[in-house]
Amino acid sequence: MKIAVVRECHPQERRVALVPESCEKLVRGGFDIGIESGAGAAAGYADEAYQAVDAEIETDPRALVQSADILLRVNPPSNLDGRSEVDWIQPSTIVVGSLMPLRHPREMEALAKTGAIAFSTDAIPRTTRAQAMDTLSSMSSISGYKGVLLAAAELPRYLPMLSSAAGTVFPARVFVIGAAVAGLQALATAKRLGATVTATDVRPEVKEQIESVGARYVGIELEGDASAGGGYAKELSAADRERQREMLVDEITRSDVVITTALIGGVFAPKIVTEEMIRSMRPGSIIVDLAAEGGGNCEVSVPGESVDVDGVRVIAPLNLPATMPEHASLLFSRNLTHFIETFSTEGTFELDTEDEIQAGCLIATNREIVHQGTRDVIDAMLKGARA
Ligand code: NAD
Repeated sequence: MKIAVVRECHPQERRVALVPESCEKLVRGGFDIGIESGAGAAAGYADEAYQAVDAEIETDPRALVQSADILLRVNPPSNLDGRSEVDWIQPSTIVVGSLMPLRHPREMEALAKTGAIAFSTDAIPRTTRAQAMDTLSSMSSISGYKGVLLAAAELPRYLPMLSSAAGTVFPARVFVIGAAVAGLQALATAKRLGATVTATDVRPEVKEQIESVGARYVGIELEGDASAGGGYAKELSAADRERQREMLVDEITRSDVVITTALIGGVFAPKIVTEEMIRSMRPGSIIVDLAAEGGGNCEVSVPGESVDVDGVRVIAPLNLPATMPEHASLLFSRNLTHFIETFSTEGTFELDTEDEIQAGCLIATNREIVHQGTRDVIDAMLKGARA
């Protein structure tokens, strides 16, 4: 089978779906690989590096997509930048990438119409077997790490305790809200940089994980159950939200840096940090809202921008993995390669919708959206349009 990789055209995107290291493995596994000329350039992977591992460099993206049995993408295929990539996809082409179907239902409908068989790696079940294919985890981990670096770069103070001839300065206090993949990486990074770190989550089972990276856990006894299953959280009841608010006011007021990562069902961001809480922080404090892609955890967040509230900077970055494109691409590419290799023999990918991984992340086939979550989002949109 032929695997194709084209340039990512989304604004600010610098990652590439396949790096030369992975091409080498897939070629050894019997696949032919075509890479659009320059597709890896923004991530630091030159055409020559792909050619050195027997991938074919192609200059016509249309011909490349049309000839693909498997199309690998970082973002959903789109008709951006004067290209008509979606229109070029042939029926039965297997498309694999981080399609984020719940955030891009319209794109999923367009993709389904092409007749493609679309797998989204961010819908892969969070199981031990699937861990090596989980792009959501590898990218969230980068966001957690980079979020702390952004905060450190903006903070008008040291993060660590520092003793010098001029005396001692005390470590900054970093508070992380939401302690799954991004949050735990943010905690570990802030800890390595010497800050005093504290975290909260609505799932009490993460207390141990928070403490394992040297952070202090704070939490409230919830009246309702905040677990939606599969390790995801659901919306808190009004009473629990109020009790959480009191605890948050206390922690946020004392913090120099707040990093927010909370998501509901892995997709939508609950508004947790109010403008009043932000105003209670010392001027110079920094908030990094890593849930910006889901709308943001702070009332004042403007996704993709940075705003000032009484001297407190609220940064709501989008697509942080793209700011570290070399390693982000390397890890993303390894995830996709694990997915392909797991289901392939001698250069042929075998469809097996009985398999729990394929079944979990199959978004579209036979010109239909088959992923229940995506169908629910589309139905809700249609209902909203009719109302
Ligand atoms: P996520 O991005 O969906 O959510 C981030 C965190 O925010 C969660 O821990 C959630 O409980 C928390 N949160 C939600 N609402 C909150 C609120 N109001 N206040 C405070 N915190 C709130 O998480 P994720 O990184 O996608 O991970 C989801 C789950 O999958 C986790 O349980 C994680 O451990 C698990 N996981 C498993 C695997 C695997 O087994 N292969 C891999 C990665 C993640």
